[in-house]
Amino acid sequence: MRITLLGTGSPIPDPRRAGPSTLVTADGLCVLADCGRGVLMRLVAAGVVPPMLTAVFITHLHSDHITDLGDVITTRWVMSPLPRPFTIFGPEGTGEVVQHTLASLAPDVRYRLDHHADLTEGPSAVVRDVGPGDEFMVGSAAVRVGATDHKPVEPTMAFRLDVGGTSVVLGGDGVPCAGLDQLCAGADAYVQTVIRDDLVNLVPSARFRDILDYHSTVEQAAQTATKAGVGTLVLTHYVPSMQPGQEDEWRALAAAHFAGRVILGDDLTAADI
Ligand SMILES: [Zn+2]
Ligand SMILES: [Zn+2]
Repeated sequence: MRITLLGTGSPIPDPRRAGPSTLVTADGLCVLADCGRGVLMRLVAAGVVPPMLTAVFITHLHSDHITDLGDVITTRWVMSPLPRPFTIFGPEGTGEVVQHTLASLAPDVRYRLDHHADLTEGPSAVVRDVGPGDEFMVGSAAVRVGATDHKPVEPTMAFRLDVGGTSVVLGGDGVPCAGLDQLCAGADAYVQTVIRDDLVNLVPSARFRDILDYHSTVEQAAQTATKAGVGTLVLTHYVPSMQPGQEDEWRALAAAHFAGRVILGDDLTAADI
C-alpha cells in the first residue's frame, strides 16, 4: 500500500501546497480521501490519471476538502474512453453537494455532449452517504467508517481501509475522540490533519484562532497514534503552513509522544506501508 500526500495545505492559499487530499493505492485500488484545491495537478504528478480513480472518500464538507470535487468529476468523465462510474462516499449531505455541483456543470456537460460524438452520456458519479459504523467493500478494500469530532461541523468521519492485511485510517479534521481511537486501533498507518497551537496562538486574528478548538495538534495526533498502537503516523494539512526547514521541528513535536515512524513533508510525500 502506498499513501501519497497530494495536498498538504489548508483553506489558506499557499503557492507550495495544494488543498487537502490523500491518495491511497494498493492492489488495483486507487482512491482519494478529500479533494482540495489543485488535487488533479498533484494526482497526475503522482503518476495517476483521473480515469484510474476507483472511489473518492469525503471526510466532511468543509470547503477546503471538496473544492475540486467538480474538477475530479468532470475530468474523470472527459478523460475516460468509456463510461466509468465511480462512487463518492461521504457524510450525509454529500449527495446534495454533488447534485448542486453537477447542476453547476450542466452547461459544460451540454457543450461536450454536443461536440463529441463518442460521448453519449454525462458524468456518472454515484454518491453514497455513509455514517459511523458502516462497513462495505471498495474493490479489494474492506472499509470501515468511524465518527470524528470536528464540532460544530457535523457529521464528520474517518475511513479505515484494510487491503490484503494492511490498513490505513484516513482521519480528516478533528480533535481526538473515542470513535477515532477505535478506528485506529492496530492500524498500520494513520493519516491526520494537524495544526500547531503554539504558532496559531501568535496570530492576531480571533477568527483564525477559532480553529484551535476543532483540530488536532501535532502532539494530539501523536498521542492518538500511540494509544492506538499504529505503526506509521502521517501528518498533513499543516496550519500554519510548514515552512522550508521546519520539518524537523514539527517531527520532534510528534516524536515526543509517538515512537513509531512519522511521515510529513511537501506535497507528493509518499509512504509505503
Ligand atoms: Zn474541517
Ligand atoms: Zn480542513
